[in-house]
Amino acid sequence: MNVARTAESVHVRAPGKINVYLGVGGRHDDGYHALATVFQAVSLYEDVIARHADDFSITVSGVEDPDSVPLDDRNLAMRAAKLLASAAGYDRGVALEIRKSVPVAGGMGGGSADAAAALVACDALWGTGFSTARLHELAARLGADVPFALHGGTAVGTGRGDQLNPALARGRFDWVLVPNELGLSTPVVYGRLDALREERGALADDPPLSLDVPIPVLQALRSGDPELLSESIYNDLQEAALHERPELETTILRGIHAGALQGIVSGSGPTIALLCGDPESAQQVQSELRVHGLESLHVHGPVPGARVIS
Ligand code: ATP
Repeated sequence: MNVARTAESVHVRAPGKINVYLGVGGRHDDGYHALATVFQAVSLYEDVIARHADDFSITVSGVEDPDSVPLDDRNLAMRAAKLLASAAGYDRGVALEIRKSVPVAGGMGGGSADAAAALVACDALWGTGFSTARLHELAARLGADVPFALHGGTAVGTGRGDQLNPALARGRFDWVLVPNELGLSTPVVYGRLDALREERGALADDPPLSLDVPIPVLQALRSGDPELLSESIYNDLQEAALHERPELETTILRGIHAGALQGIVSGSGPTIALLCGDPESAQQVQSELRVHGLESLHVHGPVPGARVIS
């Protein structure tokens, strides 16, 4: 008997991510930038529950502004479920319940986590039985960050960020995340980066279309030493994100002043990720930030990718 096929619902959890390193190269003809990045999945999770239904529908909870997340085909989880149904020749639908914890438009890949979770949940609910490789192939069609949300852990992403290779990371890294009520649009931040580069005449000296992650970043992850990692975390989008939100620089400086080893804009922002030496120092950073009216979350990484919970 196929147990998955008889289940009434499937609950999957998928993590948000931080880009420990994000190098952005030139723009390809299809509009995507060449990337070399190191993703780390962190312990801030999206929960997706899939239930049998004739049609496709989505409900979302855990967001302050209900209008911030589309409930139609613009929702990445909806697109994931429909893509899987079409690939599997499944002719019914699914009711997806999304419980969000990852900040919306926060640069932490929340929508991508929802899509990865929806793929895994519908595969189990419908008894599709797709291989991990097949799910990865579908994930890559949904968006550059979706394969990583399936994969989890720590991984190097090249190409558009979707060509993944696992990276060795020892131990655990403690991060304090400072979310922002107002999300930042990823295309706006990339557009700002292009404009800043153009202003500097970077077009005469075109950014490369193929890049690598610097060796010291990978060595630091392998060592498990947060101090070493703090010397090499880097984000090419940071300047553009700070240009859009200058106040984020103060958040980074406050975090470092409070004892964080280093701070960085996560992905396209506006979430700030502060790397801390251990859980105690993370707690201390949190309480100092609170004095300045900044609420934060203490997470750790790496954690696994999308997993069936029940
Ligand atoms: P990116 O992965 O591009 O860096 P992000 O992590 O900054 O994005 P997300 O929360 O994934 O931000 O969503 C960005 C936008 O995508 C949202 O503003 C929203 O309009 C749309 N979106 C589509 N599907 C979802 C989803 N399941 N959850 C949240 N937003 C979604």
